[in-house]
Amino acid sequence: MPFKSHFLFLSMAFWDRKIETLPRKELEELQLKRLRDTVSRCRRSIFYKNRLTDIEETGFTKVEDIEAIPFTTKNDLRTNYDYGLVCVPREDIIRLHASSGTTGKATVIFHSRHDIDAWTDLLARCIAMTGARKGDVFQNMISYGLFTGGLGFHYGAERVGMMVIPSGIGNTKRQIQLMKDFHTSVFHATPSYALHVSEEMVMEGFDPKEFDLRIGFVGAEPHSEQTRKKIENIYDMNVFNSYGMSELNGPGVAFECEEKNGMHFWEDNYILEVINPKTCERLGPGEEGELVVTTINRQAMPILRYRTGDLAKIIDDKCPCGRTHVKISRIKGRCDDMMIVRGVNVYPSQIEDILMAFPEVATNYQIHLERDGALDAFIVKAELYPKMFDGDLNKLKKLEGEIAKAIADEVVVRPKIQFLEPGTLPRTEGKAIRVVDKRGEM
Ligand code: AMP
Ligand code: ZN
Repeated sequence: MPFKSHFLFLSMAFWDRKIETLPRKELEELQLKRLRDTVSRCRRSIFYKNRLTDIEETGFTKVEDIEAIPFTTKNDLRTNYDYGLVCVPREDIIRLHASSGTTGKATVIFHSRHDIDAWTDLLARCIAMTGARKGDVFQNMISYGLFTGGLGFHYGAERVGMMVIPSGIGNTKRQIQLMKDFHTSVFHATPSYALHVSEEMVMEGFDPKEFDLRIGFVGAEPHSEQTRKKIENIYDMNVFNSYGMSELNGPGVAFECEEKNGMHFWEDNYILEVINPKTCERLGPGEEGELVVTTINRQAMPILRYRTGDLAKIIDDKCPCGRTHVKISRIKGRCDDMMIVRGVNVYPSQIEDILMAFPEVATNYQIHLERDGALDAFIVKAELYPKMFDGDLNKLKKLEGEIAKAIADEVVVRPKIQFLEPGTLPRTEGKAIRVVDKRGEM
């Protein structure tokens, strides 16, 4: 489809061509060297000092030797709050960030100057890869503060040389005004907020396609291919998936190139493993499992074999873009956001994919799980475009049947469908709440 940005593919942009296209053998040698250095460095922290007594990293001869090291979990980070994993003197720390989790103690991550610099470079790499460049106007519509999405992208965009509008999230009317007045050409947002902004534009009488937007970065929450297409079509722009988590810096861990077929995982900074989350057995390319990641270019707080809780698979192909770093699929969800509905495993992303493929469905939905006697009530609430509420009940009934059937075909259990007018479901400023599970309360 010829988006406003169709010309961008004429100039495939590398930020650091040498490292991005490093032959696999050299990349693996670099990983091995950095892994050994990282394990030695980790011994300086209170937590890893005891953890690594049986490990002899000097004897590692290949990257796979990493399997000798025990996993690190979110719980390890919590129980070693505050400085338990830090490997540098306190005065060498220049930044603290925290994960956006709302339950339990925050997971804090510390960065040295080297760490911020390396992270910024990774983001510059991601941004340049999409064709965004110096001269673009970049509106960063995501939370600043402890959350890593704001400052991470901000620094990377400045390094690329874009004009940054640090608008943060919220105050949507002002976002639209800024976009219009300063000709924003690139934005970063959660997919749910990107859609919300487009709805507000329409409400204010604008056509989202009228703006100068040509590239969007979306991430921080699971979303489907259909949602990406929806955002691309609404704005007439190219949208790229951005993956990261605060424990691994934040955004800039994996990002889509212009092929938009998987996200390159930056293997000079991270070692990626995919495991079966139940048995912890290592999985091969094409097999879906939990991502386990080791940081190999961090000073202040390196993390070894971190269980991310995110589910994806390695895409085993040679990317036509020329980059040699491995690609991962879209994140299917978290091991822990899997819903068990009447005994069946269901991921919100499966439902989203189906809903977004129906052109009548607008931009927002929610899955409600309730108790209905002994059974689970599985209710999918979806907002429809206003034209669907013209009094023709047969049309709605037909659509309801079609959606319920499509979902039942995919996940086996058949939901009840409830249609709502646009703007009915609550909007959140951070990550969208897609599942409301009240089964424990009934
Ligand atoms: P935080 O540490 O607060 O930045 O949250 C990180 C989590 O957000 C990850 O572990 C993922 O579960 C989720 N996440 C981040 N980026 C994406 C993405 N592109 N697609 C799906 N989930 C994502
Ligand atoms: Zn590529």
